[in-house]
Amino acid sequence: MKVTEHIAQAKDTLISFEVLPPLKGKTINSIYDHLDPLMEFKPSWINVTYHRSETMFKKKADGSFEKVDVRKRPGTVGICAAIMNHYQVDAVPHIICGGFTKRETEDALIDLNFLGIDNALLLRGDAPKNESSFEPEKGGNRSALDLIQQVVRLNNGLYLDEEILSGSRTNFCIGVAGYPEKHFEAPNLEIDLQRLKEKVDAGAEYIMTQMFFNNQKYFEFVDLCRKNGINVPIIPGLKPLTNKKQLSILPRVFHVDLPTELSNDIMKCKTDEECEQVGTEWLIQQSRELKKAGVPVLHYYTLGKPKVIKNVVEKIA
Ligand code: FAD
Repeated sequence: MKVTEHIAQAKDTLISFEVLPPLKGKTINSIYDHLDPLMEFKPSWINVTYHRSETMFKKKADGSFEKVDVRKRPGTVGICAAIMNHYQVDAVPHIICGGFTKRETEDALIDLNFLGIDNALLLRGDAPKNESSFEPEKGGNRSALDLIQQVVRLNNGLYLDEEILSGSRTNFCIGVAGYPEKHFEAPNLEIDLQRLKEKVDAGAEYIMTQMFFNNQKYFEFVDLCRKNGINVPIIPGLKPLTNKKQLSILPRVFHVDLPTELSNDIMKCKTDEECEQVGTEWLIQQSRELKKAGVPVLHYYTLGKPKVIKNVVEKIA
């Protein structure tokens, strides 16, 4: 079922979770071990992130270095199929532009379609760690907007190979990312919102937000979206703070602010367990307030912390 159908049929705020494919070499059981404690909450769907390859330098026997491209977390399409089969729950694959040609993307979309997956969260992706700015792959999509246009064409039966006449139509429900605290490359929030509107006008049916720790930022973002004619559901993305290192990592990597009260409380903690307790309490309060405000879904980035998410969701269920 499509994300938008779940939302349209819901009588209350829904729950959804997000997982990361395991590092290459691990089995699908690492995903099941991660999700098993969370399935009692009957998530409406599970998102699975997508990862580009990274350039690494491997030392050769003669002491010289060789440049190699390594995809450390492959398997998004397979994991989606496994999750659907194992739990009978919908899976939402993320699809990114970075590192992939349009042809590779089309092939991934065809696989998803054959598997009966009719959702996709479409993203640009970031620059590889050793590069300063995003560059599309040769023959790849340049932005999430380009990727939306490719998926919309496929939904209309139009494949890259123009010789395919009357190709079968895919039926993807398209989601995109939104940033309550602005995407870091956008000159200001107003321009970022105009670009978000372009994505919605091109075919995006809902928005999933970057994590935020201050609900006010989400409420203001939703208001601004509505004022700018963006009327699709806006799903809040939520993540627990669980250690002191995140006080600098999250702002640096995800470009989000941490509220003074939360960061002060985390700084006072003596152990990771104490941090986890503070982060859990904060997320419970955030979730309760969002639910009370009638958000369509509470989407949790579970990344490595299923027990924390379980502790949160059981308090708000
Ligand atoms: P876009 O919508 O393409 O926007 C990127 C930037 O370009 C923005 O600053 C925008 O304002 C600007 N822009 C847009 N149009 C124009 C234009 N016409 N001219 C100039 N500038 C323009 N990354 C992964 O690698 N894998 C994942 O699975 C993944 N999942 C994510 C899930 C969510 C919910 C979120 C919020 C992010 C996720 N990301 C993921 C990270 C994402 O790829 C990055 O944040 C990336 O930097 C931007 O992606 P986007 O789809 O928002 O890009």
